[in-house]
Amino acid sequence: MPSPEPRPYAPLTSRYGSIGQGGEWREAIEAYYWDRMPESFAIAQALGAGFGGAALRWYRMIEGEALTRERARIEEITDTLSVEFDPDEFTLDEAHKGAIPTATETVARRLGWDFSMGVRVAILVEEVDAPWHGARFGYCVDKYPYEKVCVPFRSAVDPDELYRVMAHEFTHAVTLNLTQGRIPHWLDEGLAMLMENAPARRTGNWLDPEALNAAFEADRRDEEGLSRSGAAYVQSAQIVRHLHAVGGDEKLAQLLRAFTNNNLWDEIKINLLGEPSVEEALHEVYGFGQRELFGAAR
Ligand SMILES: [Zn+2]
Repeated sequence: MPSPEPRPYAPLTSRYGSIGQGGEWREAIEAYYWDRMPESFAIAQALGAGFGGAALRWYRMIEGEALTRERARIEEITDTLSVEFDPDEFTLDEAHKGAIPTATETVARRLGWDFSMGVRVAILVEEVDAPWHGARFGYCVDKYPYEKVCVPFRSAVDPDELYRVMAHEFTHAVTLNLTQGRIPHWLDEGLAMLMENAPARRTGNWLDPEALNAAFEADRRDEEGLSRSGAAYVQSAQIVRHLHAVGGDEKLAQLLRAFTNNNLWDEIKINLLGEPSVEEALHEVYGFGQRELFGAAR
C-alpha cells in the first residue's frame, strides 16, 4: 500500500513568522516609526511573533498602538499636542486636557528644553493592557512625525495619575533629544522619577552603575524581573534626588547639555577610549564622577 502523499509544504509565516524575515520586520518597524499603524500592524500580523517569540515585544507594541488607532478619535489640545483615544471607553475631560500640557511644559521648563516639536499622546485601549506586554506602565517613542507617549488605559482615567505618567515618559523624550541618546538608564529613569514627583523611597539593595543599568533590562513580564527593575527605579531616583539636592533643576539641565557640548578631546575619550559620556558630563557640571556620586547618595 503506497504511503499517503506528504502534504504540500505550506509556509506558516502567517502564524509562526520567524525573526529571520528580517527584511519584512524592518518594514513593519519603519512604518511603526512613521506612526503608520495600520500598515505596520498588517505586516506584523503576517509575520507573527517570530521564532521563539523573539519579536513578541515588537508585535505587542505594534498591536496595542494599531488597535488604539483603529478606534481612535484624535483631538488637538494645543498647536503641538494631540491625543488619541477610543471615545467609547475613555472620556477626555477638561482635567485630562489640562494635565497633559501641564506635564510636558513643566518637564521641558525644568530640564531646560525649549521644545517646539509635536507630541502625540495615545491612551491605549484597555484590552491591550495585559501581563505579557513588555512596557505595561507606559512608554515614549521618538517617532519621525512626533514624540509619541503611550499611556495604558488604567493610568489615564485619573488625571493625577495621567499627569504622573506623562511627566515620567515625556522626560525620556527630553533626555533622548538633549543627550542624543547618550544618557545611561539609571540617570534617565532617575530623572523621570524626579519629574513625576515620585515619593522619596530608599533601597538597601545598592548596585554599581553597570549592574544598575542592566537591571532595567530585566524582563518585566515575570515577577522576579519586575521586582529587580522596581528596585532599580528606587535606587536611580535616590541618586538623582541627591544630584537635585546639590544643584537643583538648573544643574540637572546643565548635566543633560553636558553630554553633547564636548570639545574634540572629550569626544576622543568617549568614542575612542571608551569613557562613559556620563562620566565626562558629571565631572563637567558637578566636579565628581559616578563612583563618588553613588557613594554619596547611598
Ligand atoms: Zn521610564
